Amino acid sequence: MLDLENGLPGTNYSLEEMDRNTIFHPLTSISAHMKAGPAIMRSAKGARVVGADGTEYVDCSGGLWCVNIGFGREEIAEAAAKAMTDLNYWHLFGSSSNEATIRLSSRILTLLREEAGFTNAARVFYGTSGSDANDTNYKLVRYYSTLRGKPEKKKIISRTGGYHGLTAAASSLTGIAAYHKAWNLPAADVVYTECPHFYRFARDGEDEAAFCDRMIADLEAIIAREGADTIGGFIAEPIMGTGGVLIPPKGYFARVQEVLDRHDILLIVDEVITGFGRTGNWFGTGLYGLKPDLITLAKGLTSAYFPMSASVVSERMWDVFSEASDEYGPVMHGFTYSGHPVGAAVAMANLDIMENEGLVQNAAESGAYLLAALKAKVGDHPHVGDVRGEGLMIGVEFIADKATRRPFDPAAAAHRLVAAKANAQGVMVRALPFIEVVSFSPALTISKEECDLAVERFAAGLEDASPELARLAGH
Ligand code: PLP
Repeated sequence: MLDLENGLPGTNYSLEEMDRNTIFHPLTSISAHMKAGPAIMRSAKGARVVGADGTEYVDCSGGLWCVNIGFGREEIAEAAAKAMTDLNYWHLFGSSSNEATIRLSSRILTLLREEAGFTNAARVFYGTSGSDANDTNYKLVRYYSTLRGKPEKKKIISRTGGYHGLTAAASSLTGIAAYHKAWNLPAADVVYTECPHFYRFARDGEDEAAFCDRMIADLEAIIAREGADTIGGFIAEPIMGTGGVLIPPKGYFARVQEVLDRHDILLIVDEVITGFGRTGNWFGTGLYGLKPDLITLAKGLTSAYFPMSASVVSERMWDVFSEASDEYGPVMHGFTYSGHPVGAAVAMANLDIMENEGLVQNAAESGAYLLAALKAKVGDHPHVGDVRGEGLMIGVEFIADKATRRPFDPAAAAHRLVAAKANAQGVMVRALPFIEVVSFSPALTISKEECDLAVERFAAGLEDASPELARLAGH
């Protein structure tokens, strides 16, 4: 039996033992953790993280693609301390409000209207994670359809390889089988269309235009099969993150948008990673000229100094909600921490830093620099198939055979090996769960010198992994 008392401070147990005896880790193999975990971090500043053993890393993960303004910013600590002393908590239920959230909402709407072209952004609904925001979106699609007298129009089309979080509804929207296995998911009202990743999923002889045609044809076929009157929404990340930094083929989104408009289907744009400068643009919506009905925000909204997310609703949805208000009564949805005043104050200070330091521009410049450096240093490696990215959202895709684009056996987890070796060389990169991609998503403050150091260490890790990669590839 677990000896809790002896696993607590003041005993002879190490931190590692206490962790293994007390924490149920998310997204972690229990057996691997019991053998080799945990990796404890001690402190962080800018784009550097220091482990409990004193090892310093260049952090090219940005935590989980989220620490956009960099670690250890005193301005945020000061804003949070002031907010906590002024009004540490109030809620938004039953018409209650607080100044920080009011000001933040106005700022988010202005940013989305001006920087993302989301000119009909109407209202902001708050949560605490990307998952709960997408859970809210899942419900709002139903709410909208029901209030319009079309309760059957509730299915959501997602994409294979898409990642939208892990609440029960968000897991269902996530189009990666590993997240469904053994959880009796997805829910029946989510359907998946093809993953638009040309490099990996193009058929022999198919060029990018033909590939894009096939993606659109699949979407059309799904709508025809299910019936447009049963489909309420379509959810997409502008650039798929967890799926492997998958950049859509040329013209893809304009064509998707046309199909959705024709069938009266809402577009949910999940900007949890792409929002707030990550791609070198304020939002992916602006980058691809999307016309959303809902936008999901989290991560960069507070740079992970506070758990906060938002669902931003379009005028056409808002009009339906407000017109039906007297008939339906209060909107029976919300969370204790929706519109948390400390989170809002932190988000405001975070946006001040982003604007004052020109971090969107820096993401564009450092991103281009890092991408070029990676291509130059590892692009010719026999098992590096593709190096791609937009701003500071970059992926390196590994391949067993470059000429034929034959992938590694997924069970071999070749990219995990590379990430582990790179990590041992002092650069944090993440191995993603869908295909063999390692991602780079450092703080948007990262310098060119840090990019150089990261690439040097990554290349050294790749070198260390190379004999094993060759073996796994069957050479
Ligand atoms: N949506 C996208 C695109 C994400 O990348 C993530 C997390 O990585 C989520 C939603 C879920 O966010 P959270 O982990 O805050 O619930």
